Amino acid sequence: MTTPTVKLASGEEMPLVGFGLWKVPKETAAETVYNAIKTGYRLFDGAYDYQNEKEAGEGIRRAISEGLVKREEIFITTKLWNNYHRKEHAVKMAKAQNETWGLGYIDLFLIHFPCALKYIDPAVRQYPAWWMDDQGTVQEDKVPIRETWECLEQLVDEGVAKSIGVSNFQPQLLTDLTSYARHPVSSLQIEHHPYLVQPGLVDVAKSNNIVVTAYSSFGPQSFLELPPDFSKRTQGVPTLFEHETINGLAKKYNVTSSQVLLRWATQRDVAVIPKSNNKDRLKQNLDIFGFSMTKEELDSISNLDKGLRFNDPGFYLINHPIHIFA
Ligand code: NAD
Repeated sequence: MTTPTVKLASGEEMPLVGFGLWKVPKETAAETVYNAIKTGYRLFDGAYDYQNEKEAGEGIRRAISEGLVKREEIFITTKLWNNYHRKEHAVKMAKAQNETWGLGYIDLFLIHFPCALKYIDPAVRQYPAWWMDDQGTVQEDKVPIRETWECLEQLVDEGVAKSIGVSNFQPQLLTDLTSYARHPVSSLQIEHHPYLVQPGLVDVAKSNNIVVTAYSSFGPQSFLELPPDFSKRTQGVPTLFEHETINGLAKKYNVTSSQVLLRWATQRDVAVIPKSNNKDRLKQNLDIFGFSMTKEELDSISNLDKGLRFNDPGFYLINHPIHIFA
């Protein structure tokens, strides 16, 4: 199975479907990634925050060493976490992440969130997520995005990253960034599903030649399994897998609801990176190009929009909300 690709502003080709590594346990990540490559996945979406870059890299290296794929056929995305936005930390951290993957270079390196947290030495506290300590203290830092972006540009200059981009940015910051970017913003990764369509943001990205990548394509599904502070917004919301509009289209095209959700995105030139630890679903999520919905059908899915965002640190960081989405 070959996945269609999209050309990024950097000139590189990115697969339209990839595999998301958030919540893939590090104990099984190498095996999961290796099996995903066997299934046909070529793009892996990681992050320092996901705590499994080393193991994901191991899975890819195994597939390369067995001759299943070549390095240049694989596309690795990874992200800079919020504690490392300052220039004295960002490049160093990115280079350390690149070493951890062990594949020579990163295909796409993103700023994970447009907000900076106080530096924490990884040798003292690794993978801090949003918190300084075990008491849940959140300490913001004041770092201009331009400072961090210029570090990403240095990574391109030095051959550490082939393409660079951002995640969780909104139109104003994105527009500002494009005014000074020396290397193009190749991709914008955002929460995007029928309950959070953000058509204006998608249009701004497209008009700036920035490829949009959707995360959490199945809406509430990914957040149901999280602790209460993170899952509260899913309460009383019908899952998209049960929604009659999605189910009706799944029946019509003889596909699953997940395939309808992923096809809705890719038919609108939005890349997807679903995550599953289950072999059959892995296969299903990749196999979405055998049918196409009509414009009216795509619109009927877009019309389910509720502006409902699940990944919102202004909501789940209850002791110190960070309102990057207002
Ligand atoms: P997702 O939309 O991929 O959903 C995952 C959930 O859906 C899991 O519970 C999984 O078991 C289930 N699922 C997967 N395939 C299925 C199928 N075919 N049928 C039924 N259930 C299925 O959600 P996600 O993990 O939130 O997002 C995907 C990826 O996006 C992540 O792994 C990560 O790489 C990335 N991401 C990025 C950010 C960011 O801030 N940039 C935030 C969240 C996720």
